[in-house]
Amino acid sequence: MSFIAELARTVRAELQRMTDCECSFADARIYDEDATERLVFYDGNLEVNYYQQERGIGVRVLKNGAVGFAATADFTRIKECFDRALANAEAAALLLGFPKDMGAPRPVKGNYQPPFTRDPFTVSRPEKIDILRQIDRLLNDKIIEHRMVTAHFQKRRIFYFNSEGSEIERWVMNTFASMTAMARDKEGRTQRRSFELHSDGTGTRGFEWLARTDAFAGHTERVKKELGELLVAETLPPGKRDVILLPGQGHLQVHETIGHPLELDRILGYELSFAGGSHVRPEDIGTLRYGSDKLNARVMVVENSPGTFGYDDEGTPQHDYYLIKNGILVNVLCCRLDLKEANARAGRTVVPNSGASARAAGFYKTPIDRMTNVCVEWGNDGTLEDIVKATENGVVLDMPVSWSIGSNREHFHFGCEIAWEVKDGRITRVYKNPTYQGHTLEFYQSLDMVGDRSTWRLIQVANCGKGEPNQIMEVGHGVPVMRFKNVLTGEGR
Ligand SMILES: [Zn+2]
Repeated sequence: MSFIAELARTVRAELQRMTDCECSFADARIYDEDATERLVFYDGNLEVNYYQQERGIGVRVLKNGAVGFAATADFTRIKECFDRALANAEAAALLLGFPKDMGAPRPVKGNYQPPFTRDPFTVSRPEKIDILRQIDRLLNDKIIEHRMVTAHFQKRRIFYFNSEGSEIERWVMNTFASMTAMARDKEGRTQRRSFELHSDGTGTRGFEWLARTDAFAGHTERVKKELGELLVAETLPPGKRDVILLPGQGHLQVHETIGHPLELDRILGYELSFAGGSHVRPEDIGTLRYGSDKLNARVMVVENSPGTFGYDDEGTPQHDYYLIKNGILVNVLCCRLDLKEANARAGRTVVPNSGASARAAGFYKTPIDRMTNVCVEWGNDGTLEDIVKATENGVVLDMPVSWSIGSNREHFHFGCEIAWEVKDGRITRVYKNPTYQGHTLEFYQSLDMVGDRSTWRLIQVANCGKGEPNQIMEVGHGVPVMRFKNVLTGEGR
C-alpha cells in the first residue's frame, strides 16, 4: 500500500472514532508536500535565496458546538493529534459563545490541478537566477539608484478528508514576481516605480509565465522611463478631482475596502482583536447600498489566479457568486461554520451557503474566512482612453506606496507611486507623491465609469495577512479601470 493510501486509511478510521465520540463533524488535511522558494536580487546581488519544505497533518473536530484544532508533522502520531483536537474542542465548549454548526452534510469527492506547463520546482536554481539577473541588468541605468527583482514559487499537494465522506486531492501551484526601480528626486525623497507579474485571468501559473518577455521582462523600459518622469515631477497639489484607478491600484482598493469588510468572521467580530472588524452588520446583507449601480463585485473562479484552488479547506467546491450587485450588498465571504450564527443575528437567512472561503495557510493553521478572487466586473464605459477623454479634471493613479485603513474598513487613505493629470480629456503631466482618501460607502457611490474587458487585469496578492497566529494567504483580484467622482486627493502621504 502506498504511503498516502496508508495515511488515508488511518485518517478514515480516526474520523469514524471522532464520530463515535459524539463529534458532529471532523476533518483532516494531509499536506504531503508544501514547498516555498523565494529569490530576491537587490542591486545585482542575490540577497535572498530561500527554500522551505513542510509536510504534516492538521485536524479539526466539532463537539458540543465548539471547534478543536491540532496538527503534527509526525505521521506516526495521527491518533494523538485527533485526541488533542478532541480535548481542545471539549475545553472550548466550556467557554462557548454561539454554538458552531456545519449545517447539512455535503459530501464531495474531487480533485483539482492548477494550469501549468513547467513546474518551477523542476527548474534548476541557476536557470531561475539567470532570468532574474537578466531582468536586473535590464533595469540597471544611470538614473536608477536601487533596483529589486523578486520571484516567489509555491507548490502544495493537499489531501482533504471529513467525517461526511468527503475526499479531495488538490495541488496548489503559484508563481509571483515583481520588479522595482528606485531613485531620489530633487528634494532627496525616494521615488519608485514597480511592476508585478499579472494576467488577464487566463493562461498558466508555472515558471513559463515568468519567463514570457511580454508578461514580465518586457516592462523594464517603461518602468525606468516612468521613474525618470517622477524624478523631475512636482507633488500632486491637494484638491478634489476625479480619480481614475488603474488595476495596479484598484485591486488594493477592492482588497481593503470590499474584500476584508465582507469576511464573515470580521462581520461577526471574531477578528476584532487581530485583523479588525467590519462596518457591515449581518442584517445589512441583502439591503445595504455599498456603491453606485455601476458597482458589481463577484467572487469569480478565474483560471489563472492564486485565489483559485478547486475546493476550500472544508471541502466546498469554489463557485462564482455576487457579493455586490448593481451597488447592493448581496453576499459575503464565508465558510460553513458561521452561517447559522450570521443568519440568527440577522433574524433571517442572509447567507444561505458557504462561499468556499475557508482557507488555512499551512497544515498547522486552522481554516478561517479568507478572500479567494474578489473581483469587480468590467463595465461598458470603454477603454482607458475613452475614460480619460470623458474626464475634465482628474488623475490616473497606479500602484500603492502606502495604505491606512480604519479597523472597520470604513475610511481609507492611499499613497500611490504615480499620477497622470487629466485636463479636459487629455493626459497633461506626471505628478509624484499622489494620495487620495475617502469613506468606503461614499467612495463606491461615486463610481461613475467602469472600463471594458480591455482594461480588466487579474492582479495577484501574495501577502494578505489575517488571524492569530497570523496566516499569510495568496489571493487574486480581477479589476477594470474605474473612475470615481470628486475625490479628496493630495493631502499628506
Ligand atoms: Zn489583506
